[in-house]
Amino acid sequence: MSKVLVIGAGGVGSVAVHKMAMNADIFSHITLASRTKSKCDAIAASVRQRTGVSIDTAQLDADDVQATVALLRAVKPALVVNLALPYQDLNIMDACLEAGVNYLDTANYEPRDEAKFEYSWQWAYQDRFREAGLMALLGSGFDPGVTSVFTTYTRKHLLDRIDTLDILDCNGGETGLPFATNFNPEINLREVTAPSRHWENGQWIEGPALSHKQVFDFDQVGPKNMYLMYHEELESLAKFYPEIRRIRFWMTFGDSYLKHLEVLENIGMTRIEPMMFQGREIIPIEFLKALLPEPASLGPITRGKTNIGTIATGEKDGKARTVYVNNVCDHEEAYAETGNQAVSYTTGVPAMIGAALMLTGQWTGAGVFNMEQLDPDPFMDMLNQHGLPWKVRELDAPLAF
Ligand code: NDP
Repeated sequence: MSKVLVIGAGGVGSVAVHKMAMNADIFSHITLASRTKSKCDAIAASVRQRTGVSIDTAQLDADDVQATVALLRAVKPALVVNLALPYQDLNIMDACLEAGVNYLDTANYEPRDEAKFEYSWQWAYQDRFREAGLMALLGSGFDPGVTSVFTTYTRKHLLDRIDTLDILDCNGGETGLPFATNFNPEINLREVTAPSRHWENGQWIEGPALSHKQVFDFDQVGPKNMYLMYHEELESLAKFYPEIRRIRFWMTFGDSYLKHLEVLENIGMTRIEPMMFQGREIIPIEFLKALLPEPASLGPITRGKTNIGTIATGEKDGKARTVYVNNVCDHEEAYAETGNQAVSYTTGVPAMIGAALMLTGQWTGAGVFNMEQLDPDPFMDMLNQHGLPWKVRELDAPLAF
């Protein structure tokens, strides 16, 4: 029986809190805090209506470390689940250290003024968390998160050695809108406009953004264009699995999304540098975010499925094998259960599972941890039990590209 404080009342926070309330034996008391309290209250009302569980809500600007410390001292949670934005990660980790609380997030730290994410800033907290006897779990979403657990599971049960790893992230969902991002638009656009990068023979290979395309036929979705991209888990996978010769990440994008993105980039709307407009400073991408639909509002209009998984080649008992581990999630089913579409659902459920494993003591430790460092088995079991069932398939041959 444990108290948890969730920070961030977006689509992911909403799913995580609904799923925690459905597991009241583990999450005995839930507080949801975010910058806009009315969003917390709306989620609390939905949680009460769907599950009968009452949760507490609070207003919090998590950029303010002392405000977060004060809330932690008042609520006294065993764990903070950070589902705000990557900009807040370090401030919330600082507050956790000061108040003596464990920490979990789904996205690694990114400075506001530079479209660059990497684990170095959070790995630098290793000694402080270890000395405080606290655990910080990084990246417990789907990707990063489940994709690393799929890899760890593959290495533990399916292959004695992994040679190559491809992560395939397909969102086959349609909203009917010409342009919308399925998670926070600002973070999404910063991610997809960054140069592509993959790991090969001990080094990073960079290329222009969205320039390398392949077609893949996704189970229950169909053939889709997918593009080579850099993604957070590549860094931790390369660190914890030095044996893997090549690690790549692919994400599907529709033509309409790419057409809009190209125009927005060309006219400067995705820029993150401040500029003066009518006597005040604005940041174009922040202004663009304000115009685009909030991911949490896409739930009722998204149809179709996501299909995310890992394809690993390697050897088992001396024989070459290619194994595909993946999950398919239906946008409409996710919406019916939690009021949120599948991209929020596939992130919020693993956040709940990581939190549950920490609170029940199945995942323990002092220091900063990535998903690759922990036993995949209880996590994989919980994915099956809590709405994200997965399948293992042996492929006849490695990917042809
Ligand atoms: P949203 O934009 O829908 O929600 C973010 C929430 O955080 C909003 O409620 C926002 O408040 C709140 N927030 C922002 N700044 C602060 C602050 N300073 N203090 C307190 N609250 C704040 O995003 P999502 O729910 O789609 O995504 C949440 C997180 O999950 C992001 O970090 C994203 O990168 C990550 N993610 C991870 C994935 C994975 O697979 N690992 C996949 C998808 C997302 P307000 O409403 O006032 O703006």
